[in-house]
Amino acid sequence: ADEIITTDVVIVGAGPCGLFAVFELGLLDIRAHLVDILPKVGGQCAELYPEKPIYDIPGFPVVTGQGLVDNLIEQIKPFGPTFHLNQMIQALEPTGTAEAPRFRVVTDAGTVFDTKTVLIAAGGGSFQPKKPPIPGIDAYEGKSVFYAVRKMEAFRGRDVLIVGGGDSALDWTLNLQPIARRVTLMHRRDDFRAAPHSVEQMRALVASGQMDMKLGQVTGLRGEGSTLEAAICRDAAGETFEIACDTLLPFFGLTMKLGPIADWGLNLNENLIPADTEKFETSTPGIFAIGDINTYPGKLKLILSGFHEAALAAQKVHRYVYPDKRLTFQYTTSSTSLQKKLGVA
Ligand code: FAD
Repeated sequence: ADEIITTDVVIVGAGPCGLFAVFELGLLDIRAHLVDILPKVGGQCAELYPEKPIYDIPGFPVVTGQGLVDNLIEQIKPFGPTFHLNQMIQALEPTGTAEAPRFRVVTDAGTVFDTKTVLIAAGGGSFQPKKPPIPGIDAYEGKSVFYAVRKMEAFRGRDVLIVGGGDSALDWTLNLQPIARRVTLMHRRDDFRAAPHSVEQMRALVASGQMDMKLGQVTGLRGEGSTLEAAICRDAAGETFEIACDTLLPFFGLTMKLGPIADWGLNLNENLIPADTEKFETSTPGIFAIGDINTYPGKLKLILSGFHEAALAAQKVHRYVYPDKRLTFQYTTSSTSLQKKLGVA
């Protein structure tokens, strides 16, 4: 059986709001486990606009998406959060009472949490890969077709066809080339959106005969059951050809989908989770919602709103975690007790 992690709070989503919640909870002596389906932290800031400038973070006239994430990671370091990346929270079931809530939270990788509270900071929902419109592709998924690489070793000795022209396609081409039996990269046109350095490395491997690059699109798949034998492709001139392969890795970008959150028994309003504005608690006591995923009168989907929501939610989480302790309001500037927690006093 899987080991069960017992904790005070599980944070669903490691975007900017989930990350800052670690700080506000940490000041109140509450340690957090964060789960994100992405292989990295930072949510939309890191995934959608790492190099774009943000101009409305209080105190930072300008900071890039990734810059903000890096600063948040630095800021929450004293509180040693545990990250569970590459995992989607699938199931959330109440196991306690309204006065003493408890929840069993399970990820698609089999991690199980027994937690007093849950903080949903799931943004626009979980990032999920866009599927290419290839007829019959479903039959091969999980055996021959994969939208993410979880373990590179799984592709040792295989004939891999990678499709796409962005960073994921190029990065996995370069990473799997030494491991796979043969790697072929296919893209619609001879123009890549990926980092120029990766494109150069790929072209060098093609020039020295260590991998193949083909222009075209996959229009069909041929195989037995879930075992792929070849991809049927078409080039810009409309010519059809086949590429023999036992593995297809399409990298067509990510979309945000609400995902399993819809099944957790929470009231929803147009795919958002209504929360009160005093403690940002949902219709289920002990479950909180902060950041882009929540809704209330006047809500603005701004990072600064999510930061404020994290601070208020943390106060109520404290009541559940330490029902007998009183909370006194303190400034980080002048409280030696808070400064000790931050490791600066
Ligand atoms: P997100 O950043 O969306 O992160 C949520 C995370 O939760 C994701 O990583 C997702 O994978 C994960 N997740 C969801 N469901 C699950 C699940 N079931 N299991 C595991 N993980 C899950 N805001 C500003 O304030 N100023 C700006 O200038 C600004 N510019 C922007 C520019 C662009 C191009 C975009 C797209 C957005 C911009 N925003 C801006 C909005 C800002 O990025 C969002 O408000 C912010 O990212 C919300 O943070 P969050 O933590 O709530 O959610």
